[in-house]
Amino acid sequence: MALRTNWSEQVCPIARGVDVLGDAWALLILREVFAGNRRFDPIRSDLGISDAVLSRRLAELVDAGLLDKVAYAGSVRPRWEYRLTPSGADTLPVLHAVARWGAGHTTSPDPGRIMTVRCADCGTDARSADWCTGCRRPLTRSNTIWFRARDPRTPISLAE
Ligand SMILES: [Zn+2]
Repeated sequence: MALRTNWSEQVCPIARGVDVLGDAWALLILREVFAGNRRFDPIRSDLGISDAVLSRRLAELVDAGLLDKVAYAGSVRPRWEYRLTPSGADTLPVLHAVARWGAGHTTSPDPGRIMTVRCADCGTDARSADWCTGCRRPLTRSNTIWFRARDPRTPISLAE
């Protein structure tokens, strides 16, 4: 039985996008993968998510074409990591827009710790979800650096 309405056949692209991205875990899993956290156990630890829910959400993101499930070497039994597909990488401005909205319209328990999105090409801190106001290039995984609110002094390059 479906847990909610299926919007995948709607003509409105917002409805179809929400059908894929409208789950909170999906966006938080994508955040982790962008930040280089690509394996099941560390994602589970960081999100505090159950095995069952994480397994289901990862499978849905793979089925929807946002993540690839790739075996990684150096382990005795098969282990998997998750990598962004081009479709998954295109969610970057969605995450940035959610972050900008969250910073502007919700209350942080620790207002001194903010998330910063920086353009690696020119060093400008972004004031837009999808392009750099300094060099006027699109912000993509290859030229974006995050300073996450939980550790605002540590730069995380989103480039693989
Ligand atoms: Zn720039």
